[in-house]
Amino acid sequence: MVIIMNPDATVENIEGVVKAIEGVGLIAKIMEGSQQKIVGVIGDKTRVGSLAIEAMGGVEKTVAISKSYKLASREFHPANTVVDVDGVKIGNGNFVAMAGPCAVESREQIIEIAKYVKAGGAQFLRGGAYKPRTSPYSFQGLEEEGLKYLAEAREVTGLKVVTEVTEVEAVDTVAHYADILQIGARNAQNFRLLKEVGRTNKPVMLKRGLCGTIDEWLNAAEYIMNEGNPNVILCERGIRSYETYTRNTLDMSAVCAIKHLSHLPVIVDPSHGTGKWRMIKPMCFAAVAAGADGIIIETHYNPAKALSDGPQSLTPEHYAEVMNGLYKISDFMKVENLLTDYTKD
Ligand code: PEP
Ligand code: MN
Repeated sequence: MVIIMNPDATVENIEGVVKAIEGVGLIAKIMEGSQQKIVGVIGDKTRVGSLAIEAMGGVEKTVAISKSYKLASREFHPANTVVDVDGVKIGNGNFVAMAGPCAVESREQIIEIAKYVKAGGAQFLRGGAYKPRTSPYSFQGLEEEGLKYLAEAREVTGLKVVTEVTEVEAVDTVAHYADILQIGARNAQNFRLLKEVGRTNKPVMLKRGLCGTIDEWLNAAEYIMNEGNPNVILCERGIRSYETYTRNTLDMSAVCAIKHLSHLPVIVDPSHGTGKWRMIKPMCFAAVAAGADGIIIETHYNPAKALSDGPQSLTPEHYAEVMNGLYKISDFMKVENLLTDYTKD
């Protein structure tokens, strides 16, 4: 439930409402709406029944939240969330690019790639150190050694680091080195892991599950937020469909659905979404036009020799070409005012 305050509600009015909510053992969160303050209520809503909230001073109306997720919903939090990653903002018009290899393979590899990723204009370096591989015989990642190389690449380039954490036991270690914790598609409903990253103070990039519905994805975000971590970035990476030509079916309409249903930033991963490097450029451009808050792409200086996901990795030259067009389109969308404003109903 949310309580919409009158535009002229006083500080005392708001305090009165918060006190009443807390008095029945519920949590109250004060948020800024477009014109007025909103008090979000978390917990068993039957307890509010006794309070006659709408009769309290400064209250305009109460609105029930229709979704099973609340903190992640736009009903609960109308304004777009901006996730601040140590000074780099994501969301509400702050467009970002994340790029790097699928996996950290060596110190030399990640530093070399980080340098051209930075030169191309991305703000984040991606690279898996813990790799969730379909086959147990495939390269499994360098684990902590890989995290150290990522941290070194950050020192050299100034890029922020986004990297995956695959198990509860590794959360502290990954959080020690990373700027954003990535939850991969295969762990999108690993609720223990979601809760564990929710207890850290690191932003989390939550990928959509392999066959995840939008509702399941937002409920997964809710698990993280409900532990006290509001800094969730959603990532559309394609879903399994009957199509086999592409690795997954990249659901660009999910960007619009998420923007409508949630205030959280959403970025697009055309590398895993298509599995084909040739499709990355057009799909990145489409993501910007759809209103995504960023993209994450794989690149390798020698895709043919990459230990994982070479076929969906851009060469340095193609990476530069994508980045060049991406910012032009992003600027164009803003200047021409072509993006949809989802904060207005
Ligand atoms: C990745 O980003 O390296 C990855 C494994 O992606 P996903 O979880 O989307 O398959
Ligand atoms: Mn990959």
